[in-house]
Amino acid sequence: MKIAFIGLGNMGLPMAINLAEAGHAIGAFDVSPDARGAADGAGLSVGESASEVAAGAEVAITMLPKGEIAAKVAEDMLGAMVPDGLLIDCSTIDVDSARGIHAKAEALGHSALDAPVSGGVGGAEAGSLTFMVGGNDEAVARAAPLFEVMGARHVHCGGAGAGQAAKICNNMLLAVSMVGTAEAFGLAEKLGLDAQRLYDVVSTSSGACWSVTTYCPVPGVGPTSPADNGYEPGFAVDLMAKDAGLAMEAADTIGAATPLGKHATDIYRAMQEAGRGGEDFSSVINHLRQTPRGG
Ligand code: NAD
Repeated sequence: MKIAFIGLGNMGLPMAINLAEAGHAIGAFDVSPDARGAADGAGLSVGESASEVAAGAEVAITMLPKGEIAAKVAEDMLGAMVPDGLLIDCSTIDVDSARGIHAKAEALGHSALDAPVSGGVGGAEAGSLTFMVGGNDEAVARAAPLFEVMGARHVHCGGAGAGQAAKICNNMLLAVSMVGTAEAFGLAEKLGLDAQRLYDVVSTSSGACWSVTTYCPVPGVGPTSPADNGYEPGFAVDLMAKDAGLAMEAADTIGAATPLGKHATDIYRAMQEAGRGGEDFSSVINHLRQTPRGG
């Protein structure tokens, strides 16, 4: 299949490489000369613009930083693709922009899917991502073989924007649950309760959650996690602040009450302001250690 792939960063490049290795003809583009050089070095065919690589493509895949950029790139490509093309946006972006991309694609006789991912750079490299997909059944069926190359699983969440909605709801919950986990282990520490003993109790009790059992923010406790590696990401505070911020934007637009989501977003933004944006988000435990009660 002839595929245009735009956005060859930490996630996009390994995804494009996996598609090429599976036998697809990839035309790749990124605005960054370094990213284009890395793609060229990996053996991908690199073009001069998004519209150039989209020319004659049946499928276009985007993996870009934000909504405005994804919408602009989509617009550049949709006019160049073969009739009845399929645009799959895998970026994490706001729901409104995602719906705008669907509408634009449909107006030009194409199909679109919003298909943000979880699994991080490791998942992109290993081809084990999970795709959360919004769009119609026919488009999902067309994209399924590509999701199978780039990932281990795709979940059809509903119509236009439903993939982005699922992504931001999941990540808002994760933002909150990691703060709660960090607070519990921080409180235990101050109460003189050993972190391993707390883990032994919580991991099999009603407080258990992924942030405790898989990604414990205390070094040496639970399975290996970024806490055991000096809080190297993993999933950086910058990315968590972005995703939680998208959830807050959506909640503002529709008037949903998300008080803990808002508080957690503010905490990750404070970490960014304190210069911790590049640390794994589980280092919120360290941030809270330095936060006075009431702060
Ligand atoms: P990245 O910054 O490494 O890559 C984004 C790429 O897009 C860059 O190479 C940039 O040059 C390129 N780009 C920007 N504007 C462009 C344009 N107009 N035309 C062409 N290329 C352009 O980011 P990433 O970590 O690869 O993340 C990509 C997306 O995936 C983001 O939406 C992010 O939120 C999401 N995501 C990332 C992770 C992760 O762990 N990194 C996990 C899940 C989802």
